[in-house]
Amino acid sequence: MDPTSQPFKVLAVDDSAIYRKLVEQSLSAERYAVLFAKNGREALDLFAKHRLAVVITDWNMPDMGGLELCKRIRRDFPDCYCHLILLTSNTDKEKVVEGLAAGADDYLTKPFHSGELVARVEVGRRIVELHRQIQAKNHLLEEMALTDALTGLPNRRAIDVWAPRQLSAAARHDFSIWAVMADLDLFKKVNDTYGHDAGDTVLKNFSEILKANTRHSDMCARLGGEEFLVIITHADKEDVRTVVERIRKQFENNKVTVGNATLAATASFGIAGFRGTKPPDLDALVARADTAMYAAKHNGRNRIEFELDSESEVSPKDATRTIPAQAF
Ligand code: GH3
Ligand code: MG
Ligand code: MG
Repeated sequence: MDPTSQPFKVLAVDDSAIYRKLVEQSLSAERYAVLFAKNGREALDLFAKHRLAVVITDWNMPDMGGLELCKRIRRDFPDCYCHLILLTSNTDKEKVVEGLAAGADDYLTKPFHSGELVARVEVGRRIVELHRQIQAKNHLLEEMALTDALTGLPNRRAIDVWAPRQLSAAARHDFSIWAVMADLDLFKKVNDTYGHDAGDTVLKNFSEILKANTRHSDMCARLGGEEFLVIITHADKEDVRTVVERIRKQFENNKVTVGNATLAATASFGIAGFRGTKPPDLDALVARADTAMYAAKHNGRNRIEFELDSESEVSPKDATRTIPAQAF
């Protein structure tokens, strides 16, 4: 959404009904949504509910005055930039300095000139719109920095931000967490035989299969090249095996047509899990899953291997079903 297309909301704060009316009349010809408050406290309540662009506030008001209101808005809403205009009968320069230091952007003395108020609100509009555009662009850049461009999946950086928190939560709230490393089999050959574009299509297809088979609360990421990582939580070993086996089969059966040829690729999976009070760090858990994945390669590819590590056993009763991981 274009951030500048949001309604431009102005709040007029004054304990005098006459001044509220005067501000309303001055702004009535403009396309602003104007809200009113009788003191700072009411103004703060409205600020919390609405994304206000400009606040025009009186200085002296019962309950909470304009100076305190400016300070509170700056302190309590640091991410929501708003243009603050003090409207005061006080012409004392010391007071003006005090008001600007409290967070106001501008001031006007009472009685005010209607056209001047509108002009100053328009200055506020320009600044606020610029802020909103910058915020939206920053948001986009943050998203891009965490997203793999080819597949649209979270990238390694996103996993580094998200997964350590999940690991701590798993220890604190006693739920299981699994790292599944996936690496496409003999992918160099796919590229060499069918071309890089065909390889890219295969990578995208694999990503779609990962997304379709994992819950919203889990995370799949492309670590780079043809390596992917899936983090699965709140699942026992057999659940994880079922999910990953489904992914493996779907990918094996997924056909990509290149010219007259049809190609099918496969992937190998290595899985390591944790449940307990002392979480491993992410790199350690991923390294264990990676070791299990290399065992899957060694044992013939297109298969799943769990690591066997008694300390990291999610459920000891599952030990008989695990296949020892072999590092080589
Ligand atoms: P293995 O089964 O042992 O994993 O063999 P492999 O060929 O998959 O492993 P290797 O690491 O030798 O090759 C990985 C290949 O992945 C090499 C590179 O050409 C390809 N690759 C990496 N990133 C991309 C990409 O973004 N697009 C395409 N099309 N290919 C990529
Ligand atoms: Mg690889
Ligand atoms: Mg590979």
